[in-house]
Amino acid sequence: MRYQTKFLLSALDANQFPAPSVPEIAFLGRSNVGKSSLLNAMVGEKAAKVSSTPGRTRAINFFQLLDEKERPRVVLSDLPGYGYAKISKSISAEWPKFIEPYLAERENLALCVCLVDTNIPPQASDSQLIHYLKEMQRPFVVVGTKADRLSKNVLGKNLATLRQEHEIDEIIPVSSKTGAGMPVLWERIQAVAT
Ligand code: GDP
Repeated sequence: MRYQTKFLLSALDANQFPAPSVPEIAFLGRSNVGKSSLLNAMVGEKAAKVSSTPGRTRAINFFQLLDEKERPRVVLSDLPGYGYAKISKSISAEWPKFIEPYLAERENLALCVCLVDTNIPPQASDSQLIHYLKEMQRPFVVVGTKADRLSKNVLGKNLATLRQEHEIDEIIPVSSKTGAGMPVLWERIQAVAT
């Protein structure tokens, strides 16, 4: 199905979140993991541009996806990137205080898409996030970015290491460059859309 994307708003505070409506899908990952590129490849340049606008990089940016009859089907929320330069003890130490409550309490949050870079060793901050989502019993899927940079062999090995270290059964390898893995990711999104 083809969706039309509509930017809803940037929230710097829980009071600014859009009223919960259709299922929401959150995109999470460390800075530089390839989140803007992925959103760009999925829903068009508008989304990535908005999210990299100064002042909006610390915000949660909300996008509505509309079907061909302009009915809202799903909302994507783009969360600020975390822990690039140094590994923080807690995600909450770096993230604005409203992000953990968002993950814990947002009632229409249907799926969290956690991005991990397939080109680098497992990161403690990613493990912390995954552990947190498990603890909160939030449905999530882990996506391995920049898969095009690696040979099939190395990619397979790296995915195995990431699965083991993050204690998860599945990582969907994707590439914003080649479009690899995108149909699988869309399937997961459509499965939770109204
Ligand atoms: P963000 O900080 O998570 O939004 O990351 P960006 O989307 O800005 O990407 C960070 C860097 O990784 C940029 O230099 C991108 O060109 C590069 N990148 C992102 N996705 C891919 C990908 O799928 N393949 C390759 N080869 N490079 C990528």
